[in-house]
Amino acid sequence: MKEISFESQVLHTPYEKEDAYHSLSMPIYNTAAYEFDTAEAMEAAFCGRTPDHAYSRITNPTVQYFENRVRAVTEALSVTALNSGMAAISNVLMTVAYAGSNIITSAHLFGNTYSLMESTLGAFGVEVRFCDLTNPEEVSSLIDENSCAILLEVITNPQLEIADLKKLSIIGKEKGVPLIADTTVVPFNIFKAKDFGVDIEIVSSTKYISGGATSIGGLILDYGTFDWKRSSKLAGMVKQFGPGTFTAKLRKEIHRNLGAYMTPQVAYMQTLGMETMEVRFERQGHTCLDLAKRLQSLKGIESVNYTGLEDNPFYELSNVQFGPYPGAMFTFDLPSREACFSFMNKLKLIRRATNLFDNKTLAIHPASTIFGSFSEELRQSMDVSQKSIRLSVGLESVDDLYNDIEQALA
Ligand SMILES: *Cc1c(COP(=O)(O)O)cnc(C)c1O
Repeated sequence: MKEISFESQVLHTPYEKEDAYHSLSMPIYNTAAYEFDTAEAMEAAFCGRTPDHAYSRITNPTVQYFENRVRAVTEALSVTALNSGMAAISNVLMTVAYAGSNIITSAHLFGNTYSLMESTLGAFGVEVRFCDLTNPEEVSSLIDENSCAILLEVITNPQLEIADLKKLSIIGKEKGVPLIADTTVVPFNIFKAKDFGVDIEIVSSTKYISGGATSIGGLILDYGTFDWKRSSKLAGMVKQFGPGTFTAKLRKEIHRNLGAYMTPQVAYMQTLGMETMEVRFERQGHTCLDLAKRLQSLKGIESVNYTGLEDNPFYELSNVQFGPYPGAMFTFDLPSREACFSFMNKLKLIRRATNLFDNKTLAIHPASTIFGSFSEELRQSMDVSQKSIRLSVGLESVDDLYNDIEQALA
């Protein structure tokens, strides 16, 4: 058979075991524990010799089915589903980082990711080295024998900056540091992280995957591409686990100890969400580009930032990495913070809310909300402007969205 498309594959990933009642959708296995026939079978399962489920903090059939679907469409070596995007990020960093290690990253980061590294992991002796990830020489010069990760967001939010993933991947391979990417802002069907040299992919499945903001979730995808012999922390496991070394450390230790596995109810909703992701994104991506273009000439708007616009400094790289519709989010600048607040307050159709890629269009003033507790100095160093509005584009008609923005600016 020919290679199967994303939209067909995502619907028809088979179950691991035949369902007793031939249920067409994966049942929600709402259970904490699983029973065994014998003490020997129990021993084998607990010691990891058989793949049976034992306890739902560690594995659960409904969650595993969701993981399998993600694996089928991404060709990851392994997928782990957590109960939030932040849980996914913290599990990944706890797997690779150690006291005295350093993480190479940019200050252009999701607020909690920044705080996780700088404060939470900082207290345990992990150093964060901020640099300009669009400058490969700078990245290269900061790496030393204690660098445990190059961490980035593929399109930063809200700056919408893009680094050249292939270049960073080459540096990582040369220097023995894994490339870890948060790809939340672009869905799997348009961006194949593996093709650009990403070793570990992290996704907040709260966004595109959940299918209309139904639930909070996160995913860790291990492509099995990094040579963990180069990691001083994990090298000792490579003989036993080979390319699966990262996943072994994660699944046998970190994820069990942190206890943030996805629940079966959420996995059920997100499995359904994945089924419609491709059609939703097609609509949202087109509307986003169309709206961004129209706003460029709307009176009262100083500038529009979307990497799918031809005059954007990242346009060409964006097109290579993500195609013509690089996510369904953009920002635009108004003359002042006061103008942003007045605009927000006058919106009628567009909702004032955080979150991304809901079915409804959402607007937020990032500087006073997501980054509201940061000092002005820190906000400036992160290029979070008081003049910017972020729009996450939903499924409404583009005319209705345009009209709402126009009336709110008047
Ligand atoms: C939302 C988001 C997160 C955090 O995900 P949660 O599911 O809210 O924990 C991390 N990174 C990016 C880029 C996000 O947009």
